[in-house]
Amino acid sequence: MRVLISGASIAGPVLAYWLHRAGFEVTVVERTASLRTGTGGHPVDLLGPAVEVIDRMGLGDVVRAHRTRTDLMALVRPGKPDVTIRAAELLAGITDRQIEIMRGDLAQILHDATKEQVEYRFDRTITGIEDTAVTFSDGSREHFDLIVGADGLHSGVRRLVFGDERGYRHFLGAYLAVYTVPAFLETQTVLTYNTVDRAIAIYPTNDPARARAAFLIRSPELEYDHRDLAAQRRLLRTLADGLGWEVPRLLSHLDEAPDFYFDEISQIRLGSWSRGRVTLVGDAGYGPGPAVGGGSSLALVGGYVLATELAAAGGDHTVAFPAYEAAMAATVEASRRIGPSVLATLVPRSNLQIWAMAQAMRLLPRLPAFAQRRLTAFGGGPAAMLDGVQLQPAL
Ligand SMILES: Cc1cc2nc3c(=O)[nH]c(=O)nc-3n(C[C@H](O)[C@H](O)[C@H](O)COP(=O)(O)OP(=O)(O)OC[C@H]3O[C@@H](n4cnc5c(N)ncnc54)[C@H](O)[C@@H]3O)c2cc1C
Repeated sequence: MRVLISGASIAGPVLAYWLHRAGFEVTVVERTASLRTGTGGHPVDLLGPAVEVIDRMGLGDVVRAHRTRTDLMALVRPGKPDVTIRAAELLAGITDRQIEIMRGDLAQILHDATKEQVEYRFDRTITGIEDTAVTFSDGSREHFDLIVGADGLHSGVRRLVFGDERGYRHFLGAYLAVYTVPAFLETQTVLTYNTVDRAIAIYPTNDPARARAAFLIRSPELEYDHRDLAAQRRLLRTLADGLGWEVPRLLSHLDEAPDFYFDEISQIRLGSWSRGRVTLVGDAGYGPGPAVGGGSSLALVGGYVLATELAAAGGDHTVAFPAYEAAMAATVEASRRIGPSVLATLVPRSNLQIWAMAQAMRLLPRLPAFAQRRLTAFGGGPAAMLDGVQLQPAL
């Protein structure tokens, strides 16, 4: 059976790996001209069952060798001393099994693990789907038995099959901007500056000469052109206007950043994410919101679950797709509650909340492990959403 996957980041290559193992012929199309690794992108957390999937792929050692090492995190407040804490204490509530890695590094590792067995076609998108007939951006047409959209929050496959995302995308009330800056502060500590409705972070990258700036800004929904980077830069300047600390310096590097990313924090809420021979996996099907919901773990686990269900059903999508959705339903439902609660924790609504955050951080190192876990679980947390996941035996 021929399976076509759109998107070569996390969900796509994981699905491709396991489908190939089960005997499917797999092709992956990717919009970008080469693998989108660039400056490494942003760090993502692999939690519990996602780590298990990586281990079952035999990639545990190489993924752990690339893990980012955030040792210290500091809360920076206007006119007050910083509060610094060991990252391990702040992450205590997330899970015992956690690996943080740059998304670009993970995508590269997954691509390397699949490129000999799977055909990758870069600089290519799907422009039309009619049952088994697929049309591509280069005008070619081919037949595939199944088509999977693993093409992220603004999935092209989803738009073709489920229509415009405005019908099922839910804005969580904040914007996210991330870009690379020179490492002018020369620190390995993740610094987070908080004011009401704003959280701005500077964190180290694998390259000692570069750091990353991240802006999380609460705001009502704004109208802007998603393809117009200049308009997005202007919007960020407006949203960050008047902020102190290192923010003016960060903004002075905005125009030269090679990898500026700006998006609203929103979730994809589809009742069902399969139709006919097409299904979705990862952010495309059930994105819980960038940076707030454990989306990379969902993408990894989703890819594995879909592959095992297709293998068990001998490729019969009328059996496998409902089974995949049923297996993921509780986790996806739980993931939708995580984003709003993580956002409420990360972006303070009042000066009182900023004060309380500083107190909690000071207290944390003195608490026993179980209390640390409770205090940092972010209202159930991304790890809790994966609690109920039962991975089928490896193929
Ligand atoms: C700034 C930021 C910080 C984040 N932090 C975290 C975190 O700490 N923890 C966490 O778990 N998650 C985090 N996430 C979310 C995480 O990156 C995603 O949930 C995860 O990457 C989803 O993987 P995916 O494979 O489903 O989609 P994506 O990683 O979005 O990949 C989609 C792929 O499809 C390609 N593509 C897009 N459109 C098309 C098309 N039309 N045709 C073909 N290819 C296409 C893209 O180029 C890309 O390669 C963060 C996200 C952002 C933006």
